[in-house]
Amino acid sequence: MKSRTKVVVIGGGIAGCSTLYHLTQEGWSDVVLVERNELTSGTTWHSAAQVTNFGMNQTMVGLKSHSIGLYKELAEDPDYPINYHHGDGGIRLANTEAQMQGYRHFASMARGMDVQFEVIDAEECARRHPLISTENLIGGLWDPMDGDIDPAQLCQALARRARKAGAEVYRNTPVVGLKQHADDTWTVQTEQGDIDCDIVVNAGGYRVNEVGAMMGVHHPVASMEHQYFLTEEIPAIRDAGHRMPLLRCPISDYYCRQEKNGLLLGFYEQDCKTWGMDGIDPNFVNALCPDDLDRVTGVLEGAFARMPALMEAGVHTVVNGPITYTIDGAPLVGPIPGKRNAFCIIGLRAGLGEGGGHGWLLAQQIVHGEACYDTWCLDPRRFTGHANVELTALKAIEDYQNEFRFHFPHEHRPAGRPAKTTPLTPVLAAEGAEFTVVNGWERVDYIKPAPDFAHTHSFDFDETFDLVAAEVANVQTNVGLAEVNGFNRIEITGADRHAFLDRMFCGSVIKRDGRVGLGYLLNHNGMIKAEATLANLPASDRGPERTWYGSAAASEFHDMDWLTSHLRADEDVHLRSLTHDQTILILAGPRARDVLSACARGDWSAQAFPWLSVRECFVGIAPATVMGVSFSGELAYEIHVPNASLYAAYLALRQAGEPLGMKLFGARAVDSMRMEKSFLHWKSDLITEFDPFETGLDRFVKLDKGDFIGRTALKARQSDGLRKKLVVLQVHTSQGPAHPGGSLMRGDRVVGTVTSGEWGHRTGLNLAHGFVESDLAEIGSEMVLDRCGEHVAVTVVPTSPYDPNLERVRS
Ligand SMILES: Cc1cc2nc3c(=O)[nH]c(=O)nc-3n(C[C@H](O)[C@H](O)[C@H](O)COP(=O)(O)OP(=O)(O)OC[C@H]3O[C@@H](n4cnc5c(N)ncnc54)[C@H](O)[C@@H]3O)c2cc1C
Repeated sequence: MKSRTKVVVIGGGIAGCSTLYHLTQEGWSDVVLVERNELTSGTTWHSAAQVTNFGMNQTMVGLKSHSIGLYKELAEDPDYPINYHHGDGGIRLANTEAQMQGYRHFASMARGMDVQFEVIDAEECARRHPLISTENLIGGLWDPMDGDIDPAQLCQALARRARKAGAEVYRNTPVVGLKQHADDTWTVQTEQGDIDCDIVVNAGGYRVNEVGAMMGVHHPVASMEHQYFLTEEIPAIRDAGHRMPLLRCPISDYYCRQEKNGLLLGFYEQDCKTWGMDGIDPNFVNALCPDDLDRVTGVLEGAFARMPALMEAGVHTVVNGPITYTIDGAPLVGPIPGKRNAFCIIGLRAGLGEGGGHGWLLAQQIVHGEACYDTWCLDPRRFTGHANVELTALKAIEDYQNEFRFHFPHEHRPAGRPAKTTPLTPVLAAEGAEFTVVNGWERVDYIKPAPDFAHTHSFDFDETFDLVAAEVANVQTNVGLAEVNGFNRIEITGADRHAFLDRMFCGSVIKRDGRVGLGYLLNHNGMIKAEATLANLPASDRGPERTWYGSAAASEFHDMDWLTSHLRADEDVHLRSLTHDQTILILAGPRARDVLSACARGDWSAQAFPWLSVRECFVGIAPATVMGVSFSGELAYEIHVPNASLYAAYLALRQAGEPLGMKLFGARAVDSMRMEKSFLHWKSDLITEFDPFETGLDRFVKLDKGDFIGRTALKARQSDGLRKKLVVLQVHTSQGPAHPGGSLMRGDRVVGTVTSGEWGHRTGLNLAHGFVESDLAEIGSEMVLDRCGEHVAVTVVPTSPYDPNLERVRS
C-alpha cells in the first residue's frame, strides 16, 4: 500500500469508482481508492440501476448524458464488456395537464443539451408499453435513452480502467481516522496503515457521516429504506419481441423495468422509513434491511391497476436497502464546506444513473478548480448552517413520498419549515405574508388578500398575478416596505482590505468611506464566480473602518469560502460573517425618503445622501446602517438592522409610513421589478459557464487596473470573441413567464437558453434573460421560445426597459 499519494477516495461504490476513474481521465494517476470491504458492498450492489437522461436542469441532464455515453462505451469494450440495456426507452406517466405542461418544459430545457425527450399521449404510452392500461392516464414524457446497467460490473469496469491508468484500489481497508495538517494536507488512517495525501474525497454512501465525523463535519444526508421486488417470468413480456420500456409513475409512486422476462417493481410508499439515524451496525455489509411488503400495498394496488399482468406474476425476490437523500433531493458533489482540500460525492439517490456524470464533474473540480457546467445545483455549500441530519430526514421523507412529482415554479413543500426565521417572521405572518424559502430562510413572497388564499402551482401565471401587480404599483407610486432576511453580509476589516478586494474583484473597487459599489468576482478561468456590493463605513462607536461585502443569501458559505481561500498569510485582512446578526428592511418608492426622514435623524436629501451612499443612524431607537441602493429601480434604501433591534426598527418604519399609506411587498414583486431593471440573479443569470463580457458586464471589468483573479484567463479569452451573450428578451405571450432552461430556437436549431423570466408590471412586458448565440444578440433580433411546448415569439430589447437613465433611483 502506498504511504503517500495525491488523492484518497474513500468508498468503493459507484461514487468512488467513478471519481477515481475520472481523476485519471483528467490526468492525475497518483490517486488511490480505499474501501472498507469489497467494491460495491454498500448500496451499489443491490441497486435497481436504472439509467435515465431525465433531469431537472441542464447540469443534471448534461451529467446524465455523460453517464450514458460512458456506460455505452464501457459496455462495448471487448476486453471487459458489461451488461447495459441501453436505450430501452422510458416513460414518466402523467394524469394531470399540469404535469404534462411540466414535462413539455423539461423537454424544451433538455433540447438545449442535445437531448430529445418526447411528450406523448396515453395511447402512445400504451403502444410503446403494451402492458399498461390507459385508465386515468393523460400521457407521459418519453426518454429514448432510458435503460439499466449491471451495477457491480460497472464499478469493476471503472476501477479496472482507473488501475490501468495508474490508480490503486485497496479493498478491505477501512478508514478509521482523518487528520488534517497545518499545510492543509491529510493523513488518512486505515486499519492497514496511514496514507498521506493532498486531497480526500468522502464517497462513503450511507456511512457518509461516519467518514464526516472523522473530519469534524456533519453532512446533511439521511438514508431511507427503499424496496423493490422481482417477479417470475411474465408470458406477455417473454413473447413481446422487444424489451419493455421503463416506467416511472407519479400517480401511484412506483417504477418498473424489465428484468429477464419478468419485471422489477420499486416502490416509494407514503408509509416510508428513515434508516440508520441512530448509527449503523459496522457489520451491515453487502446487507439488506428486512422485507416489509405490508408498507407498499397501497402502491402495489396502483401498479396492479396500471399493469394487470403483474397480478398474475409471482414474486421471487424482495430487496430492501438504504438509499441516501439530501435536503433538496440532489446530491452533494464538490468542496466540503469549511474544509480545505476535502471534497465529497454523497447523498446520491440515483447514483447508478448519475454516478458517471457526478464523478466526471467532481474530478474536474478537484483537478481544475471548476467543472465544464455550473455545478451550483450540486454544490455542498448551497446548504448552510441550518442543514443538519434532522432537517434532512424530514425533507427526505417528503421527497421520498413525492419521488416522481417534480417541484413547480415557486413551490416550496412544507416539511422542515420554518428552519430560519427572524424576529419579524411571526409579525409578517400575522400581516398575511405567504413565505418562500431562500437558503432555509422564510422570506415574504407576497401578502395574501385573505388567510385562506392559496395559489395553484403552475408554469403559467397564477392567482398571485394581480396581487403582485398591486404591490409593484404601490412601490412605483407611493412607498413599500419589505424584509430581506439572510442576505449574506461579511464584515471586512484590516489595513489591507482594499488591496485584497482589488485582487478579488475584476473591476474598480470603491474605497471612499460612505460609498457603496457593485462588483464581480471571477474564477481562475475568467468566468463569473460571485457578485457583491461593497459598502465602506468609517470608524465609529460601532467598529473600526470596515467594508461590508453583501451578496445573495444562498452564497453565504460559497463566498466566504472563496474569499478566505485567497487570503494571504502576510496581509492584514479579517473576515467576519454578519449574516445571522443583521436583517435588511427595504424602503422603496418615491416617498421612501419621507418615511425615512420621519423616523431617522439627519439630512436624507439627494444632495446630502445621494444614491450609492451608506450611513450609520438610528431608525427610531434601533441602530441601523442605511444604504442608498435599489433592486427595484425606484428611490430606495436598504436599512440594515441587528436582529435584536429589528422589531423596533420595523415598528418605527410602520409608524412613519402609516400616514402615507405605506404597504408591505414581497419577493415576487422584487423579482418583477428587477427584471425591468435587467438586474441579474446569481446562479440563474450569473454562472461559471460565462465570462463577464458574455454576461454583458463590460462596465464592471477593468483589465488595466493591475492583477486580479481571472485576469490572465479573461485576457486570453478575449481574442476568441464571445460564444454567447446574455440578452434581455420580450416574450410575446401573457400566458406565463419564460422559465429557466427554456430553449430559444431559430427554426429547429437551439440558439440560446433562458436563465430567468418574469412579468414586468410597470412596463407591461413579459421579460426574460437568456444567453443566445452572439450574432443574434443585437436589439430587435427575433427568435422563438419553446415555452412548455408552445412556440412563442421573442425579441431582444434594450437592457433596463424601465427607467434606463436611472432617474428614479437618483431622485
Ligand atoms: C433498492 C434500491 C434501488 C435503487 N435503484 C436505483 C436505480 O434504479 N437507479 C439509480 O441510479 N440508483 C438507484 N439506487 C440508488 C443507488 O444505488 C445509489 O445512489 C448508489 O448506489 C450510491 O452509491 P455510493 O457509491 O454513493 O454508495 P455505496 O454504494 O454505499 O458505496 C459507499 C462505499 O463506501 C464504503 N465505505 C463506507 N465507509 C467507509 C470507510 N470508513 N472506509 C472505507 N470505505 C468505506 C462502503 O463500504 C461502500 O462500499 C437504488 C438504491 C436502492 C437502495
